[in-house]
Amino acid sequence: MEVQLRIAMIGGGYVGLVSGTCFAEFGTDVAIVETNPDRLSALREGRIPIYEPGLDRLVAENVTAGRLTFGDDMAAAIRGADAVFLAVGTPSRRGDGQADTSYVYAAVEQIARVAEGYTVIVTKSTVPVGTGREIARIVRATRPDLDFDVASNPEFLREGNAIADFMRPDRVIIGTDQSKPGGTQRAQDILRKLYRPLYLLETPMVFTGLETAELIKYSANSFLAMKITFINEIADLCEKVGADVIDVARSIGLDGRIGKKFLHPSPGFGGSCFPKDTRALTAIGRNAGSPVRLIETTVAVNEARMQAMAQRIIAFAGGDVSGLTIGVLGLTFKPETDDMREAASITILDQLDRAGAHIRAFDPAGMQTARTVLPQSVIYCSDAVEVAEGADIVVVLTEWNEFRSLSPYKLKNRMKGRKIADLRNIWDPQAIREAGFDYISLGRPDTG
Ligand code: NAD
Repeated sequence: MEVQLRIAMIGGGYVGLVSGTCFAEFGTDVAIVETNPDRLSALREGRIPIYEPGLDRLVAENVTAGRLTFGDDMAAAIRGADAVFLAVGTPSRRGDGQADTSYVYAAVEQIARVAEGYTVIVTKSTVPVGTGREIARIVRATRPDLDFDVASNPEFLREGNAIADFMRPDRVIIGTDQSKPGGTQRAQDILRKLYRPLYLLETPMVFTGLETAELIKYSANSFLAMKITFINEIADLCEKVGADVIDVARSIGLDGRIGKKFLHPSPGFGGSCFPKDTRALTAIGRNAGSPVRLIETTVAVNEARMQAMAQRIIAFAGGDVSGLTIGVLGLTFKPETDDMREAASITILDQLDRAGAHIRAFDPAGMQTARTVLPQSVIYCSDAVEVAEGADIVVVLTEWNEFRSLSPYKLKNRMKGRKIADLRNIWDPQAIREAGFDYISLGRPDTG
């Protein structure tokens, strides 16, 4: 009879809650430790503190089955656990862009103080190269007697599709300390068992060293951010030379070496991962004396782009938005999430607000958080059509599906002006122009 596996997941945010719940769904006992009292009480009351499609049902089922619990007692959660996963935040440090590992190290000290038997401490958080070794040093210093291993198991799930991404990943990366005789095997065996359900799907498993696993995550995210930035610059070029970025993206994407994903022009990448991970990789490179110049440029181009997008809206309005009403559709950094971290809307709305525009906005999931990060003067509406009320311009910032199917005539009836700036290319230029709008989008011919 197989022994029941038990894990503790430290941090019940996007990654900890989704991956903890999915491990429970695989049949493992999971104790999630969360220190934020609001998040914890929501979870204990059966409410999901984040927006992630399908997560409420999966959490409820696993709580009912007795495999998933929530608490703030570290000692109770890690007692008898085969592995302790760290899924706490690693935001950018102000100033130098390095990842702030203080939450990770604080949690590690707590774990080390209360751990009882052999413990594998696994980083699921995205952590800079060298963090695994520093964790080992902290544990040894705090508890010289403790038998433990450190592993790196970076997470690649995407918000909005997180459950499917966790259940059917492209690959699983397991990094262990290969310089430690024997230690590698023991930690690897536990992680292999935890991920056993994925072996049935023939998910590629990469067993590697700690530093390699840590770098894989930053390399993957930075490459994707670079790809987005590449097509954004090509979109700008298309506008200048009368080419169509949609056809360019589709055609280059049909080349299997390039691939069609992440080739959609946008007002710039945002979110909880790409901005901070690109900055962190450039810091890792600089500190190691091996600058990653392509990513340094990616960071700079992306930051400039968000500013440029605000200027573009102002130019489209005739050079001055003061006193104008701008209706904004979508605020989150992408659809199907409530995550506002580093969303392009923050930079763009801030500039429009400073330029004197009256902003009306709607987002299907992000408005609660938006209120805490956007200018105070923004008026929040209950749907897309209400955004258009009296608006001189409507701007699309996030490509939620419900905006795609919106009739331009419905907007027109409510608007004062006739201008639409579609910064996600969700609408067909011809149809919108036929409806009587002055329309700009990204990288398509005659986009103004
Ligand atoms: P998050 O802020 O949503 O969640 C982190 C949680 O950890 C918070 O709820 C916080 O209260 C809790 N926490 C902090 N210290 C704690 C402690 N000592 N004990 C218990 N709980 C503690 O962050 P997130 O988006 O889930 O990201 C977590 C990590 O995963 C980051 O390193 C991120 O880069 C990485 N990651 C995120 C995504 C994503 O899409 N969000 C994808 C892959 C990897």
